[in-house]
Amino acid sequence: ATPTAVMVGTGVGASQGVLIKGGQALESAHKANCIVFDKTGTLTVGKPVVVNTRLLTNMVLQEFYELVAAAEVNSEHPLAKAIVEYAKKFKDEENPAWPEAQDFVSITGHGVKATVRNKEIIVGNKSLMSDHNVAVPTDAEDILTETEGMAQTGILVSLNGEVAGIIAVSDPLKTGAQEVISILKSMNIKSIMVTGDNWGTANSIAREVGLEEVIAEAKPEQKAEKVKALQASGYTVAMVGDGINDSPALVAADVGMAIGAGTDIAIEAADIVLMKSNLEDVITAIDLSRKTFSRIR
Ligand code: ADP
Ligand code: MG
Repeated sequence: ATPTAVMVGTGVGASQGVLIKGGQALESAHKANCIVFDKTGTLTVGKPVVVNTRLLTNMVLQEFYELVAAAEVNSEHPLAKAIVEYAKKFKDEENPAWPEAQDFVSITGHGVKATVRNKEIIVGNKSLMSDHNVAVPTDAEDILTETEGMAQTGILVSLNGEVAGIIAVSDPLKTGAQEVISILKSMNIKSIMVTGDNWGTANSIAREVGLEEVIAEAKPEQKAEKVKALQASGYTVAMVGDGINDSPALVAADVGMAIGAGTDIAIEAADIVLMKSNLEDVITAIDLSRKTFSRIR
């Protein structure tokens, strides 16, 4: 393609909300024959809502949510925002602030930890619990399995080393997600999902969207490793993601596509930014690349 054609291509992209950072990005997009999708915030709306709470102690919901919100209010994660939003409904009108949290730590892809009212609170997934030597009892395991079977994410809450409850969060698929995946299939592009979320929820979501290949419980580096492994087996890989945890994979991919509503770090790491945060625009970007570069073929 001539420099003019590339300029036109990027210009058309920009007018459609597909920001292409240079000619190389535009060229690579049409060679992609494998697309790796992040789940949360990419295939799903990314605005999860709390749908259920299961307490394993005789604590009241108000107290439980005060502690959880005090920890999660320090996190930028969409799951944290959902929990804090839900917790507001238990808030005391005379006492509008959350309790103070000390020693807050955010463990990317796992959850958060803090000390609230002299209790150590850990909120996150199973591996976060095992990393802190918190045993997950069988009744909690059963609740998790049930939750995941409904494509919801079960978030464990431990207090002073014991699981105190499980928060079920639902994050619906973006509209048109199934359609995009089936169009990509018809374009002979292999699609896979790589997520930090657990296997149960990941498989349920994958089934819903029509994806056959899933990798769950993936740390940020493992997402990037998957991209590299696909490249090593001959694929030209596009990665679509929105989170800090996706940025190593976005950089590793032949084409990194960030969801516009995603984090700044992902947007910076990507070659293409989908400003409207639509999944359809993955296809828009590939089409644009095909149109720009097929003329010289
Ligand atoms: P994804 O790859 O789907 O965007 P993440 O890698 O961000 O998901 O998170 C993976 C998992 O870690 C979540 O599904 C959740 O179980 C847990 N997690 C991460 N951050 C938090 C948080 N702030 N609060 C509770 N759980 C969290
Ligand atoms: Mg995400």
